[in-house]
Amino acid sequence: MHDLPALLRRLGIDPDGVNPGLYVGSFSSASPKPPLASFAPRDGAPIASVSRATREDYERAVRSGEAAFREWRSVPAPVRGELVRQLGDELRRVKDDLGALVSLECGKILTEGRGEVQEMIDIADFACGLSRQLYGLSMHSERPQHRMFEQWHPLGTVGCITAFNFPVAVWAWNAFIAAVCGDVTLWKPSEKTPLCAVAVNRIVDRVLERNGRRGIMNCVIGDVPDVGEPMLDDPRIALVSATGSTRMGRIVGPRVAARFGRSLLELGGNNAIIVMDDADLSLALSAVLFGAVGTAGQRCTTTRRLFLHPAIAKRFTESLVAAYAKVRIGDPLDDATLCGPLIDADAVAGFRRALDEIRRQGGEVLCGGRVLDRPGFYVEPTIVRAPLGFAPSREEVFAPILYVFETATLDDAIRAQNDVPQGLSSAVFTDSVRRAETFLSPAGSDCGIANVNIGTSGAEIGGAFGGEKETGGGRESGSDAWKQYMRRQTCTVNWGTALPLAQGVSFRVE
Ligand code: NAD
Repeated sequence: MHDLPALLRRLGIDPDGVNPGLYVGSFSSASPKPPLASFAPRDGAPIASVSRATREDYERAVRSGEAAFREWRSVPAPVRGELVRQLGDELRRVKDDLGALVSLECGKILTEGRGEVQEMIDIADFACGLSRQLYGLSMHSERPQHRMFEQWHPLGTVGCITAFNFPVAVWAWNAFIAAVCGDVTLWKPSEKTPLCAVAVNRIVDRVLERNGRRGIMNCVIGDVPDVGEPMLDDPRIALVSATGSTRMGRIVGPRVAARFGRSLLELGGNNAIIVMDDADLSLALSAVLFGAVGTAGQRCTTTRRLFLHPAIAKRFTESLVAAYAKVRIGDPLDDATLCGPLIDADAVAGFRRALDEIRRQGGEVLCGGRVLDRPGFYVEPTIVRAPLGFAPSREEVFAPILYVFETATLDDAIRAQNDVPQGLSSAVFTDSVRRAETFLSPAGSDCGIANVNIGTSGAEIGGAFGGEKETGGGRESGSDAWKQYMRRQTCTVNWGTALPLAQGVSFRVE
């Protein structure tokens, strides 16, 4: 990055001072705590810092949202969509800069950083169109001169907790859909990627200001006890949409449920690809490589397990090991790099611990397995051959570790694939229609995402995204995921002169 300060300034970030950690339409927070420093995973160097929003800031942000909601809920949905369209336009203008900041702060390679901003733009377009399609059904009433239908109303404030590995797109998935639904959002970004949140809020602030709509998208950047946990117990937060680890979801889900709030959980994955003997192996190889090594194994949809038919297992594994040898590990901002760093020293320690355990339990490391001795948080993409049911493969380690297994039949492979606590993404590679449909049938993959001849990661925004079991059950983004951001109301209108009761019940005084 030749001129980092200039990039930061173009995105509204002060490289030298302390950037605000509170976005409720005015930037001031009197946090007594030391500012939150952001570090670049590529070399561990500090980038800039952000003041930590306090518990009082949280309160201000919630109240600001509540006040804005009272008006926003009655603005016609297509007008709300127009505001989201403008946000999409602003994002188009800053795509390269914001994409570079995403790479710098979370460590994904530049093409993926820009891709993440493109995902924001795509969801803005989708949400804008959706604003004219928040359809309810109409039903035929059993009673004469009665009309029955359902309609969808805004919920109120949506709390949006996001993970470090998609520091901008996941917010957009939530905030843009919520906005056209008439909700306001309160964003608590990951403390590991605060600058991405600052840059996004600078853009949001400009657009909201221009439209006289401050307060509909707020943000608090700070510590979990001050700005994260309060959302869980706060009845003013109608929906908590939380993306992150299953460990976090285990806390968030029950706490929100205890107050009868709604939660939308997007948690950890343990995704698998099955490669059959009739598959196009070059297609499968590219998919496994991107799925397992892309984003340095730090996607919820990262390919972590590979089930190979015995007839192609040896050949495929050799080709994969050869491909791994060609993967350039290094600075995510360098165009030649395919595998950037992990997010921080804790993630490297997690990789080390996992490898120790794999070796202790007899897993065979076919390639990789080392932490690189250089500034930043680099590890080698790793392939491990293991027997079916290998205990370490049941856990999600957020690093590029791929387990390879042999499974004799498709049924065996599906059974083994499903035999983990998580249920996010899955794929089969086969040229057989029968095998593909078996994989997609009710007796097939138990995951929220099931693909044929494409890998586990890199979902489009048009579908509903999410997974089953310990992945949390939530669905975000496309299809009818918007319904989670609204409340359904069933209405019956009697336009006659009598009052017939349903089910023929008679109830009158003589
Ligand atoms: P994390 O669980 O450590 O943190 C996620 C967010 O939750 C952060 O903003 C964090 O501050 C917040 N948080 C943690 N504890 C909280 C609490 N008690 N109350 C309120 N907020 C709390 O996850 P991470 O390391 O940032 O991200 C990696 C994980 O996220 C992986 O498990 C990955 O699979 C998952 N993920 C899932 C999806 C999905 O859509 N399913 C997408 C991206 C990441």
